Amino acid sequence: LNQFVQTWQQHQQQRKESEERLMQRLQELGERVHLVENEASQLTSQLVEQHEKARRDALTGLPNRAAWDERLQIEYQRMQRQQESLLLAVLDVDHFKRINDTYGHLAGDKVLKILAGRLQQGIRKTDFMARYGGEEFVLLLPDTGLKEGVSLLNKLREHIAGCPFHFKGEPVKITFSAGIGQLQASEDPATTFALVDQALYAAKQGGRNQVKSAAVNGP
Ligand code: GH3
Ligand code: MG
Ligand code: MG
Repeated sequence: LNQFVQTWQQHQQQRKESEERLMQRLQELGERVHLVENEASQLTSQLVEQHEKARRDALTGLPNRAAWDERLQIEYQRMQRQQESLLLAVLDVDHFKRINDTYGHLAGDKVLKILAGRLQQGIRKTDFMARYGGEEFVLLLPDTGLKEGVSLLNKLREHIAGCPFHFKGEPVKITFSAGIGQLQASEDPATTFALVDQALYAAKQGGRNQVKSAAVNGP
């Protein structure tokens, strides 16, 4: 009987030890999982941050052209589904080269930065504005009729023209010209963009500091 009790006790001891080892291993594994989870969530937020950064213009902080392309597709598809009016506008600063030539490139940069802020303040949260390139800005105005859009752009235009910039103590009036048009469900956004660009060109030809709307091609 003694022998049996001894063997049984040994067996019990071995079982206890192996259970302890198992528990320790489980704990270690749990810790590793936690660590990997932390790393993964850090990587995810880094990716989100990089994705955000890649879609922002460094000078003005506005969405850039890549962000514009994405948003245009989204808004265009929404417009097709909901059959609401969606406007597209292109704004171009008038005689901007002169600002650079007269006051220097840094002054030009500052103008773009301030201008972007002022324009952004004048639009709705649901509107979208991006820096398309150089001194050109593009706008998407969802759920807005053409008349309404033209008057919004004119309001922005008058606001900008009425707030002169100051260089070397002198007030300098900055203006922009714009083209605006309505996206058509049956028309590629690129086609509308080209028409709006033509309207912008007409605004420049017409003497600048003005808004022109594009002739609608659709049905
Ligand atoms: P227009 O009224 O016909 O539009 O004349 P404009 O001088 O504005 O047009 P143009 O295309 O001849 O010149 C645009 C200028 O914008 C030239 C370029 O040096 C300047 N520009 C583009 N991007 C930047 C920028 O990031 N910073 C500065 N400072 N200037 C820029
Ligand atoms: Mg230009
Ligand atoms: Mg220009």
